[in-house]
Parts: sequence; C-alpha cells; structure tokens
Amino acid sequence: MGIPTGAPVLLWFRQDLRLTDNPALAAAIASGRPVVPVYVLDRETPGRWAPGGASLWWLHHSLTALAASLTDRGAGLVLRRGRAAEVIPAMVAETGASAVYASRLYEPWARDSDAAVASALKRREVPIHGANASLLFEPWTIRTRAGGPFGVYGPFSRACFAAGPPAQPARAPTRIPAPSRLAPSDRLHDWGLLPTHPDWAGGLRETWGPGEAGAQARLTRFVAHHLATYDALRNRPDLGATSALSPHLHWGEISPRQVWHAAEAGGAPRGEGTETFLKELLWREFSYHLLWHRPAMPEQPLKEAFAHFPWRNDPGSLRAWQRGQTGYPIVDAGMRQLWHTGWMHNRVRMIVASFLIKHLLLPWQDGEAWFWDTLVDADLASNSASWQWVAGSGADAAPYFRIFNPVLQGAKFDPQGAYVRRWVPELARLPAALIHAPWQASPLELADAGVALERSYPAPIVDHAAARARALAALDSITRDKGAA
Ligand code: FAD
Repeated sequence: MGIPTGAPVLLWFRQDLRLTDNPALAAAIASGRPVVPVYVLDRETPGRWAPGGASLWWLHHSLTALAASLTDRGAGLVLRRGRAAEVIPAMVAETGASAVYASRLYEPWARDSDAAVASALKRREVPIHGANASLLFEPWTIRTRAGGPFGVYGPFSRACFAAGPPAQPARAPTRIPAPSRLAPSDRLHDWGLLPTHPDWAGGLRETWGPGEAGAQARLTRFVAHHLATYDALRNRPDLGATSALSPHLHWGEISPRQVWHAAEAGGAPRGEGTETFLKELLWREFSYHLLWHRPAMPEQPLKEAFAHFPWRNDPGSLRAWQRGQTGYPIVDAGMRQLWHTGWMHNRVRMIVASFLIKHLLLPWQDGEAWFWDTLVDADLASNSASWQWVAGSGADAAPYFRIFNPVLQGAKFDPQGAYVRRWVPELARLPAALIHAPWQASPLELADAGVALERSYPAPIVDHAAARARALAALDSITRDKGAA
C-alpha cells in the first residue's frame, strides 16, 4: 500500500472501541485515504439515556486504551464534544474529509441523530458509510415467514441459527494511515468522566480492565475455564462462572463475532456449555431486535394493559432497594455487588428486579433507571427488554403472576451462602441454613453470628406472602384475563 494522500476520511468511533474486527475501521483504511479517527462525547442528544455514572467511568478508560492502540499504529484519536449532528459535519468541514465511516447504533435517539448527520453531510456531498460492528445480525434481517419482526425469543433464536454462523472476525490492522497533522483534540481529563467528590469508583477499578486487551483476556479466560460448565453453573452467582463480557460487548471492545467464534472453537465438539452460551448471545440480539422494531420499549410497556398497572409511589422502599437494605439477603447482596462493581450476576438481576416490581410494587422504570446509572454494561436494548421481561409487560415475558420467592431463590442458587457472605458481611457468620432468612433464626443463633436484626441488618421491609397477595391483586385489577399477562 502506498502512502495515502489527498483528502482524508473521518472514522467516527462509537460503540465500537476496538481495532480488531472493526468493519468501519477496515472500510476507512480500504478507502486508501488518510484516516482521522474521532470520538464525539454527545451527552445531549440521548436525553435521559445519556450514559450514567458507571458508564462514563468505563468510557474514560476505554477511550484511553483505544487512543493508545491507535497511536501505536500511527494514528491518534481526536476527541470532541457536543451534539454529533453538529460536531461531525463541522469536523468534515474542518478537515476537508471526503467521506465518513461509522458503525451503526440502534437506539431510537441515535436513529434520529444519524439521519440528521446524514442529511447535513449530503448537503456537502460527503457520503457516510455505516457498518455493523455491534451485532451478529442486523435487526431488520431476521424475519418471520410472514416477513415481520419476531416477538418471541424461541423462534427468533432458531431463525438466527438457521441463518448460519456469522462471518469470521477480521484481524486488527497493523498500520493506520493518518494525515501528517491530526486535528486538535479535547483532553480526555477535561471531560470529567471520572468521579472525584467522592471517588466511588474503587470497586470498579478492582474489578475491571476496560479496553480491547481486557476484553480479549476475559474471553480467553472464560473459554478456557468456564465454557464447558456454563450450562450447569451459569445460574450460580457464588461461582463467577459466566463470562462478564457484557460491558466489553456494550462498548464494542470486542465484537459478538469474536465471542461467537471463540466459543465455537473452544467448545469443540460443541457441548451444552457452548450451545447455551451462544443462546445467551442471541438474547442480546433479540433485545436489539425488539428495540429496533419497538423503539418505545425503554419507556412504555410492550403489553398495553400494563400502562394501567397500579404502581405504588414509595421513595423509602425504593431507596432501601437501591442501597441493599431490604432485609432479604440475596436481594441486598445483588444490589451491593452492583453498587461496588457496576455489575450484577444475571440470576440476581432477575431476583432483584422481581423484588422491586412485585414485592415492592414499584414501576419497572425506576429499576431500569437505577441500573442505567450504576451498571458498567448499561445497555438500552438489553436493560429495557430485561426489565420488561421480568415485569411481565414485555415481549415473550415471564408471566407477571410467577413471583420469585427470594428465600428459595437464594437457597437454590447460592446454596452455601457464599455470595451473600461476600456482599453482606454483617451476615457472614450465619450458617447456610439461615443465611437467606435471618429472621427465622433464634435469638441465640443470631447472637452467635453477631447479628442484631433491625440494628446491624434490617428486618424484611415486606412480608413475602403479603407482598405476593398484593402483587396478584394488582395484576387482577388490570386484567381478568391471565392469558394477557
Ligand atoms: P454471560 O452469561 O457470560 O453471557 C454472555 C453475553 O450474552 C453477555 O455478556 C451479554 O452480552 C449476553 N447476554 C446474556 N444474557 C443476556 C440477557 N438475558 N439479555 C441480553 N443479553 C444477554 N445486559 C446488559 O448487557 N446490559 C444491561 O443493561 C442489562 N440489564 C439487565 C437488567 C435486568 C433486570 C436483567 C434481568 C438482565 C439484564 N441484562 C443486561 C442481561 C444479563 O443480565 C447480562 O447481560 C449478563 O448478566 C452479563 O453477564 P455476563 O457477561 O457474564 O453474561
């Protein structure tokens, strides 16, 4: 390849913060022009779905890693902030770029914003080339026999498997041709993405290595140690047997194709672990499929009847849930894991979500908003689809009247209580038989374990049986037809 000359092209990084298997990057290089990589921090356009606190922490570190990789390969990263619909056309004018390469986003706000970018560029006769860097299947390509979108996961996943395996991931480029002088850039530190007063990110720093190298290391470790047993152990929060790739996938530090093919190669002959793991990746695809076809999903119940659900307004209970002070150990352990690490095990996400919605009768949107701010993997598609799934208001959702008993869930999925001991240390000395229901312990047993109910650890904020009856009555009030729920 000769040294590229002439007008550069803009490479607009978005949720594809990687060099390996990045089709927008590959296409920009293939143009034969110098490449100007840019990232735009746009906290205005997404409105209430602008990244939350934990996401911004991640973004800071991920951009640091990306900038270093780009510099290693002869390019750099230009940082700008503002509305993308203004910044991208302005950068095109400033650099004289002849084209823009960008990976696609699927969020409703991004669809509107991208249309505005495209029409501004069209006026300048500058093409924008979109690429799929985040999904195995574009949401509009998987269709029912009748040609419509899927509303149920089972047939959706079968259609994905029938579509054949995704393409093999492409290698990272060794050099990226850049213009002799890169456009001026903001300084990342000036963006203030990291928390300072107070610095609550200690647990995040201990837990995560944002960036492409951290993502690849996690994938390699997971395939070597946990893939084979994934089917059997994935529901056990005490064992850490899942991949924890979700934040890396959200930010595009690794592509789902890389994950798919590593799992297929690592699980040969394809065992149950691999099969189940690939199906989980397809839940992510299904969430994007739903978001694309039902863009109101983050705000409104997909099942119309739930728009009239008699939710309670109870800030005290919401706060107890957020802080891990409900008196139900498995719920509190999950909420504290979330607060400390920015992540929570999937089984526990289902338990805490069910508790908020059904035991506390608080709107799923409240839980969705808290997760949005605190998760490092906060993802509009997966978060809203999952909350609606638990609420019973979503596509192919768990029926509302199936109400998790947090004590039985704890005993089943954290049988020795190790997960609760890790995150609710004030209960650590209780025996396994009591750790999921400390209020059932005798005064002597509590004293032996150093637990003072209502002082060192709260009594349950709701009674399970009463809460269950209240939730079912609420459901009855919106429909006499259980089939609709
Ligand atoms: P693994 O079990 O290793 O699975 C591999 C990958 O498959 C995950 O990284 C993820 O990308 C995908 N995946 C697995 N399960 C699901 C699922 N049920 N739905 C969608 N994708 C899935 N996931 C997010 O990425 N972002 C969110 O904001 C989010 N919010 C959730 C809210 C609730 C109430 C619930 C019940 C689930 C939510 N999930 C969300 C889905 C799921 O809990 C996480 O993807 C998973 O726990 C991530 O852990 P992991 O990477 O170890 O998953």
